[in-house]
Amino acid sequence: MYRTHTCGQLRISDAGQKVTLAGWVQKARKLGGMTFIDLRDRYGITQLVTEEDPGVGREWVIQVTGEVVERQSKNSKMPTGDIEVKIEKVNVLNKAQTPPFTIEEVSDGGEDIRAKYRYLDLRRAPLQRALALRHRLAQEIRTYLDAQGFMEIETPYLIKSTPEGARDFVVPSRMNPGEFYALPQSPQTFKQLLMVAGYDRYFQIVRCFRDEDLRADRQPEFTQIDCEMSFVEQEDVLNTFEGMMRAMFKNALGVDIPNPLPRMSWYDAMDSYGSDKPDVRFGMKIHEIGDIVKGNGFSVFDGSEYIGAIAVPGCSEYTRKQLDELTEWVKRPQVGAKGLVYIKVNADGSIKSSIDKFYTPEQLQKVADCVGAKSGDLIFVMCGPKRKTQTQLGVLRIEMGGRLGLRDPKVFAPLWIVDFPLLEWDDETRRFYAMHHPFTAPKPEHEKWFYSDRKEDLERVCANAYDFVLNGTELGGGSIRIHNADMQSRMFEVLGISKEDAEYKFGFIINAFKFGAPPHGGLAFGFDRVCALFGGQETIRDYIAFPKNNQGRDVMIESPSRIDKEQMDELFLQSTVK
Ligand code: ASP
Repeated sequence: MYRTHTCGQLRISDAGQKVTLAGWVQKARKLGGMTFIDLRDRYGITQLVTEEDPGVGREWVIQVTGEVVERQSKNSKMPTGDIEVKIEKVNVLNKAQTPPFTIEEVSDGGEDIRAKYRYLDLRRAPLQRALALRHRLAQEIRTYLDAQGFMEIETPYLIKSTPEGARDFVVPSRMNPGEFYALPQSPQTFKQLLMVAGYDRYFQIVRCFRDEDLRADRQPEFTQIDCEMSFVEQEDVLNTFEGMMRAMFKNALGVDIPNPLPRMSWYDAMDSYGSDKPDVRFGMKIHEIGDIVKGNGFSVFDGSEYIGAIAVPGCSEYTRKQLDELTEWVKRPQVGAKGLVYIKVNADGSIKSSIDKFYTPEQLQKVADCVGAKSGDLIFVMCGPKRKTQTQLGVLRIEMGGRLGLRDPKVFAPLWIVDFPLLEWDDETRRFYAMHHPFTAPKPEHEKWFYSDRKEDLERVCANAYDFVLNGTELGGGSIRIHNADMQSRMFEVLGISKEDAEYKFGFIINAFKFGAPPHGGLAFGFDRVCALFGGQETIRDYIAFPKNNQGRDVMIESPSRIDKEQMDELFLQSTVK
């Protein structure tokens, strides 16, 4: 037997017992003729003590036998802090090179070196906690969905393109020269085919692949909790999955989320928060003030489609310098605003603004009333095309919320965003795109517009599509689907996909809908993001055992990498890269 206990197990009640432990040497230090060793495994750390220095180094793997004794100086911060093990025998199971960084709660290693030695970084407690949380959540999901009658069914990875709006990763087929598989951006078409096949409650915790430029919360391969149900309406889907989220919050974090969850229409979210994933932990809502400020001779406002404002609490004493800095901040390409107008509602009730020349204090007071600004608040105003300006105000709102400490990761404010438009017009390519994906159905009451050829009609069509949003992050989304071949063909037509192209790419699903497809709908959650937010973090990397870096590289195994000429030939590939 390698060990009688783990390194996180022993307590004062075990004093006097003879035990055997095995683990890694986190630290060894000499003190007054004694050697103290912190022995670590994934359950915790136990202090070992001996009069003879056993000569072990950091990260050596050892087995020790000894007696559990009460410590002289106890450490209340450690669960095992009341005891130590008096070494009687040390058995070195494996030596270790000195690790390139300290493997402790907080490491001294930079991100790159820790990524190269990911297996060492993974020994650290914060990462072990992150992966333990991920495991816990996966178990909760399976338990909940199983109890609800869902079946976990695997779908293939070597498939054909699924249009989720990103670039595909492709895999050449040796057996079919010149042809390629695409890795799934999601199992969307397969889960719909499973509904046609009668498996009316499906789920899968599944890897998806999207070849996108990476940001902190994106990975080229990521995990979805993918789900689909038949004979359901939007209400059934929302109830089922807010139940799942409720169970996850309760059982993994001990947190109660509201029952039922708040819902907000996409239009309200855009109008009030300038985002389809509003952070509702704080107010600072956007208000349209065009009616109040237009027609006063201020040409910037007079010529704008939309003028909106937010009231930032307690910031009326912002200095010139701070205001200039924020103005520059909103002008960066990431935000793209032309400028920033401010109105200070001073503590004494007086008003000072950057547009005093054009407006009387009474008029500015009207703006303050409209946006709910009180004495001591600072109002920011932006103008331009409606949705664009709202989005910019939304970005500024999030920034100010962050600066004011209103975005506490331990506070959870989940909600559903519903009633998304079905289609999105793109001025550049002069065509419609599916707001969610092309398998989303129009609301039955909007079908008349869906079959119209007028752009204004098509723009009005809404879908029974929904997103689950938490703290300003979209954690999941889905929709009630099209289950009728003609409607699916119409959708491809609206999206400007030719009959031939639709047939080539999606013939299989249009065809399946001709063989008795049930009404169905579903959704998918981004599991990595769920884990990160539950863990109170913004980046998903710590919640993935072996993530890629910003260039999509795994620097530990050095991938991607070149393949040799023989393999290229076998796959009928030629590289143009020198
Ligand atoms: N396949 C969708 C996605 O990946 C989710 C869904 O509609 O179920 O976003």
